[in-house]
Formats: sequence, C-alpha cells, structure tokens
Amino acid sequence: MIVTGAAGGIGRAIVEALGSADCAVAACDAPGTDAPFSFDVRDRAAVKDNVAKAISGLGGCDSVVANAGIVDTIHRAERFSEDEWRKDLETNLYGAFFVVQAAFDGLGQSGDGRVVLISSVGAEVGSPGQVAYGASKAGMVGMGRTLASEWASQGIRCNVVMPGFIATPKVLAMPAEVQDGAKTAIPLGRFGTTEELAGAVSFLLSPAAAYITGTVLRVDGGFGLLLR
Ligand code: NAP
Repeated sequence: MIVTGAAGGIGRAIVEALGSADCAVAACDAPGTDAPFSFDVRDRAAVKDNVAKAISGLGGCDSVVANAGIVDTIHRAERFSEDEWRKDLETNLYGAFFVVQAAFDGLGQSGDGRVVLISSVGAEVGSPGQVAYGASKAGMVGMGRTLASEWASQGIRCNVVMPGFIATPKVLAMPAEVQDGAKTAIPLGRFGTTEELAGAVSFLLSPAAAYITGTVLRVDGGFGLLLR
C-alpha cells in the first residue's frame, strides 16, 4: 500500500491503522520529511520513480491513499496569484493524479486494486478565501468517479473520503474562536480524530467495501447539515 502525506497529521494515523492491520505500507511524503519515500507529488518524474521503487520494495501494490495536500494560501479569489493557484492545484489535484496514475499497473496486476483520494468538505461548502483549495478538492471528486468507472475493468475500486474538521496539530493551532465557530456548524459538536478518519480509509480499503466504488464518504460529524 502506498500512502502520501504520510508524515502529516492524518497520514500518520492512516499509516498506523494500516500497519496495525499487518499491511505493508510505503510511507511517502515531501522532501525533508522523515518518510521512507520523500518526493514532491507535483514532480511527475519523481513520482514515477518513487512509486516504482515503492512497488518494487513492497513486491506489488494493491492500494494507494492519495492524502498529500496543502491549504497554505488563504486569499480572496480576486487577489489569488497565478503561482498560488497553481501550487494548490498542482499539489492537491495533479499530485494525487500523478501518484495513482504511476501505480496503475501495480494496482491492476494485484487483481484487487484500491484507491482512496482524500478530498475535503471544502469541495462542497464554498469556504471564503479558499478558491484554489476548493477547486482542487472538488476536482478530486470528479477524478475519483472517473477512475472508478474507467478502472473497474482492471479490478480497481476508487473512492473519495471527504474529511470535515479533523483534530490534527494544524487544525488545533487555529485560534480558539475559529475552532469554536467551526464546532457550532458540526452536529456532533466536536472535531473528528485522526483515528476516526483513518478508520474510514481502512474500511474503504478492506474486503467489507468490496462492492463500493465511485462513492464519496463524508467523515465530518455532519458538518454543515445544521445550516441547510
Ligand atoms: P498535514 O498535516 O499538513 O499533512 C499533509 C502532508 O502532505 C504533509 O506531511 C505535507 O508535507 C505533505 N505535502 C504537502 N505538499 C506536498 C508535496 N508537494 N509533495 C509531497 N507531500 C506534500 O495535513 P493533514 O491535516 O494531515 O491533511 C491531510 C489531507 O487531508 C490533505 O489532503 C488535506 O487537504 C485533507 N484534509 C484535512 C482536513 C483536516 O481537518 N485536517 C480537513 C479536510 C481535508 P509538509 O508538511 O512537508 O508540507
């Protein structure tokens, strides 16, 4: 199994959950992180090279979790620079595509390939200041559904997980009033844990989800339902 963004808040929990289920995992993250495979997902050649090495080291590849992502730039849309727009799109959308595309042969050869794309509720809610993030995460939904229909004939399932607020170090570093405001829009009244998010990913990778493809699984405590 290949997991990107594996050194981050959610990625670490996914790797731990898969490891505790005795899965062999190739943990991938950005250059400079402590992940065994470090590369920039925006660099297609580096992705191809590292995914090939990961598959060779694992002796195959039955699953990919495309989790690496950024939400660094918060600007009103009219002030979004081209560079900032490209960085979000290239990391979150192009990067996920490059990784799953590079793993396609391995996934098909496994006979039971599985892809999970980590999107965000930002794909649906229209968060001010996050035009590039929202576009990239919505793009992952279209990409996931297309891969599900296109790659089913190769025995590959593809699903999208849409996290709401998950209690990672970066989310918990937000000002208290921002966190409290967010919780008022969550019927369950709290942020999700990284373990809860990892549990949803593990389910989609498991035999229990063998007939599930092309779906979007929201792991958000009902975020936004109170406002509809
Ligand atoms: P995180 O802690 O920042 O982890 C993301 C990881 O991706 C980091 O280790 C980061 O490395 C890596 N990364 C960033 N750019 C990369 C690149 N160009 N190439 C390779 N790796 C790169 O964030 P997280 O909260 O765990 O988020 C994981 C995923 O969940 C993201 O896709 C995010 O959009 C999504 N999500 C999170 C939440 C939430 O509440 N936490 C909500 C909705 C969706 P560096 O730290 O070195 O940049």
